[in-house]
Amino acid sequence: MTSATRAGAYLTIDLHAVRANYRTLAAHGGGAECGAVLKADAYGLGMAPVAAALLAEGCRTFFTAHLDEGIRLRALLPFGATIYVMHGAMPGAARDCLAHDLVPVLNDPGQIAEWRALAAETGRRLPAAIQFDTGMARMGLAGADLERLRQDPAWLDGIQPRLVMSHLACADEAQHPLNARQRGRFDAVRALFPGVPGSLANSSGVFLGPAFHHDLLRPGAALYGIHPQPGSVNPLAQAVSLAARVVQLRSIDAGDIVGYGARYVAPGPRRIATIAIGYADGWLRALSGRSYAWVDGVAAPFVGTVSMDSITLDVTGMPEARIAPGQSVDLLCEKQTVDDVAAQAGTIGYEVLTRLGSRFERRYVGGM
Ligand SMILES: *Cc1c(COP(=O)(O)O)cnc(C)c1O
Repeated sequence: MTSATRAGAYLTIDLHAVRANYRTLAAHGGGAECGAVLKADAYGLGMAPVAAALLAEGCRTFFTAHLDEGIRLRALLPFGATIYVMHGAMPGAARDCLAHDLVPVLNDPGQIAEWRALAAETGRRLPAAIQFDTGMARMGLAGADLERLRQDPAWLDGIQPRLVMSHLACADEAQHPLNARQRGRFDAVRALFPGVPGSLANSSGVFLGPAFHHDLLRPGAALYGIHPQPGSVNPLAQAVSLAARVVQLRSIDAGDIVGYGARYVAPGPRRIATIAIGYADGWLRALSGRSYAWVDGVAAPFVGTVSMDSITLDVTGMPEARIAPGQSVDLLCEKQTVDDVAAQAGTIGYEVLTRLGSRFERRYVGGM
C-alpha cells in the first residue's frame, strides 16, 4: 500500500505556475531584476523545489526572514546566487551569516555595529543590505539614523552596501497615500547611496508602476499565486491545489445536530460527508459554516464546526459513488482560490498558504 493510498488529503504544488508567475512579475518590472522571497518555507510550498524552479527561470537573488532559513537555502543554491536575510543576525550571530555566505539586512544601529566589528576582525569590507523604515515602523533604520548617516558617513565604514531597501505598508491598496509618501522617503534615502541598487517593491509594489520598481523586485506572495491587487483580475496562476478524502458518510434527520457546539441543526433530512482535513492542517476553524468543498465543480457547504482533523459537509443529493469513502473533494481548485478561502476565513491568502500543514501527501508537478 502506498502513502498515496493511505493519505487523507493531497496537496499539489504546480512549479510551472510558480515559474510562469516569476516571468509575469519580471516582465511587469521592466528593467528591474526580479528576486524571490522564500521565507516560511516558500510560503508553505516547499523551499527546495521552489528554489530549483526559480533558479531554472534565471532568478539569482533570494530573500529569507530568518538566518536559519538562509542557511538551509544556501545549501540549495549554486555559488554566486545571493541570499539576503531580512531579519539580519540576532545579537552574537553575525559570524554565522558570514560563514554561510549570507548577506544580512542591517536594520538598526546594533546590527550595524556587529557587522562592522566582524569586518574589522576579518580585515575585509563585508557586504550588507541596509534597510530604512519609510513609514511602517516595523524594521529598518529610523529617521534619526538617517540624520546620523548624513552627518557621519564613516558610520558605515567596513560595510560594503550591496542594496538599500525599504518595505511598503499598503502596496495592495494602489490608491493609498502612504505609497507615494514611502516612495518619496525611499528616494531621499537612496540619494545618500549613489550607485547602490535599491529595492522597495514586494508583490503588490510591482503593480504600482515603474516609480516603485527601482533596481530589484522582492515578490513572495505573487510567485505563489496570491492576488497582488484585490479588486481586479488576478494576472497570476494558482500554484497550489488541495483535495481531501471522504472518511465517512451518514444520513441525518431534521433536528439532528452536526459537530462541536451543536452549531448546525439540520433543517430537514441531510446527507453528511466527513472529510480528512481540519484546522490542524491549516483549514482554519474560522471557515466553519463559511466555506465549501467542490465535487466535480459543485459546491458542498461546510456544516458544523471545523474540527482538528475533520470537516463535515452537506452533500445532500450528490451522486453516492462520487462521494463514497476514499473519494476526494477539492478545497483549492479553479472554483475556489487561496484568496477566496482567505476571504471566507476573514484573513489574507498569505496566512492560508503559510498555515498549510504537514500531514498532506505532497505532489510537485512541473519540476525538472
Ligand atoms: C515578506 C516580505 C516581502 C515579500 O512580500 P510579498 O507581499 O509576499 O510579495 C518583501 N519584503 C519584505 C521586507 C518582506 O518582509
